[in-house]
Amino acid sequence: MWDIAPLVRPVVDSLPPYFMPKPKAGIKARLASNESPLPLPSAAVEELAEELRNANRYPASCEQRLEFKLAEELGVDPTQVLVGAGSDQLLDLLIRTFVDAGDRIAIPIPTFPMYEFFTVLAGGKPIFVRRAEDFSLDVEKLRRAARNAKLAFIASPNNPTGNASPPEDVEEVAREKAIIALDEAYVDFADGSLLDSALSYDNIAILRTFSKAFGLAGLRVGYMVGSKRLVGFVRRARPPFSISSVAARAAEWMLENPEYVRSVVELVKRGRAYLTEKLGKFAQLKAFPSKANFLLVDVRRSGLSSAKLAEELASRGILIRDCTGFRGLEPGCYIRVTIGAMEENELFVNALEEILS
Ligand code: PMP
Repeated sequence: MWDIAPLVRPVVDSLPPYFMPKPKAGIKARLASNESPLPLPSAAVEELAEELRNANRYPASCEQRLEFKLAEELGVDPTQVLVGAGSDQLLDLLIRTFVDAGDRIAIPIPTFPMYEFFTVLAGGKPIFVRRAEDFSLDVEKLRRAARNAKLAFIASPNNPTGNASPPEDVEEVAREKAIIALDEAYVDFADGSLLDSALSYDNIAILRTFSKAFGLAGLRVGYMVGSKRLVGFVRRARPPFSISSVAARAAEWMLENPEYVRSVVELVKRGRAYLTEKLGKFAQLKAFPSKANFLLVDVRRSGLSSAKLAEELASRGILIRDCTGFRGLEPGCYIRVTIGAMEENELFVNALEEILS
């Protein structure tokens, strides 16, 4: 038997091995992945069951129909919209459209770890730019990094910090000759979108997802909006049939039923106010203000590490994210909790009271 190891690309060999955790039983609250807490409504499920009959066909026309519908919704030309299998696929495609091995990509940290992952996988060179103390962008530093880069990422609201960036910060960076990926995965929970201001720049790609407020994380649908020129380039790099016909139909259903999405957003905003208030009462914790469907919490004063706190919560059936491993955050000091259904939020608060008393 010969060893296949010498055949693997060095960048892949340098990535940490993937650890597959054993599926957990007895989970009472899933507050680790920033998903919507609500299951799909029955009316949507019925329509998707109908769509399944067409599963013998490739989904070409479904993708296109969704792109046209999104374009109408956003008031842009259909050539300015590109759908993909979650915004993850579009982040990857964006990099592979513009970045060659050795090219630089500016990444403000702490942020969504997949930016670094896709950069490294493509052979690009991540240039990390630390955010300010309050997690706002260090615009001057980011601008300088973007000047020598092909691409710069900006998530607004940002994961895991929850804060949003003002349009002028993004525009300032976009004046450099680089592609700007403006990731608006959590925009529906914030006070407004940067889409309008971003669309006047040829070099900004706005990324959106159906995984959060639209409640379709399991179906993998995201989209990119931008100038015809930018989206046109990325479209050339996208393989045909990126999303399934069922996923496309589910996304359409959400667009046709905005009151459902509004109800998710309202539930999350109520939960966010509740958790912000409750966490504020724990002297051992510091929750940061959030415009997203999660809260970042500094646990240093609790005397417990974030890993220990996550473990204590998990033993009570409550899953949250230990932020150790987020580049740019001090390891062991932060957790991120997704806003769940009210019962889940209450379970989380009660468990904290038990653990920290
Ligand atoms: N961007 C950000 C900032 C995210 O936090 C996430 C998901 N956690 C994504 C993109 C990916 O979302 P999707 O499910 O659309 O791939």
